[in-house]
Amino acid sequence: MAQLDALLEANREYAQHFTQGDLPGPPARRLAVLTCMDARLDPQAFLGLALGDAHVIRNAGGRASDDAIRSLVISSELLGTREFLVIHHTACGMQSFTNDDLRHRLRERYGADASGVDFLPFGDLAQSVRDDVRRILASPLFAPESVISGWIYDVRSGRLEQVVAPTPKATATA
Ligand code: ZN
Repeated sequence: MAQLDALLEANREYAQHFTQGDLPGPPARRLAVLTCMDARLDPQAFLGLALGDAHVIRNAGGRASDDAIRSLVISSELLGTREFLVIHHTACGMQSFTNDDLRHRLRERYGADASGVDFLPFGDLAQSVRDDVRRILASPLFAPESVISGWIYDVRSGRLEQVVAPTPKATATA
């Protein structure tokens, strides 16, 4: 349990110096970021976000899955966010397998049937960003003044490259 011990020790240290217990729940910058869970991404750092500034929703690939949409709707409608950034990244693991690959593996290893699960892998990085921005723009569940943009983060340089310019939902032809 060396790992868990280290984590808990780090938390004790963090709590000793923690002074931001009075922040409001709604994100101060009315911003929500949808991005990949990849361990090389530190969205708060590469976007200059402070604690309390934004919602950061992460999953494998930063995909606009049903559950990501669920979180974004709650973020927007109940907590007031209006600007959404979809950020995928170079060297994403989601480009390294297909649904069939992973389903086959799970069947081989565990006898499990994952035929009903779409793991949302993708081949074309920029296209996956466009697809996910479009999916959010097409959802009827967001306020018309919501603005969505799409980006690729380069894990080697730390830079963001724009794929989809900020698009107000109200003007989107979904
Ligand atoms: Zn990734």
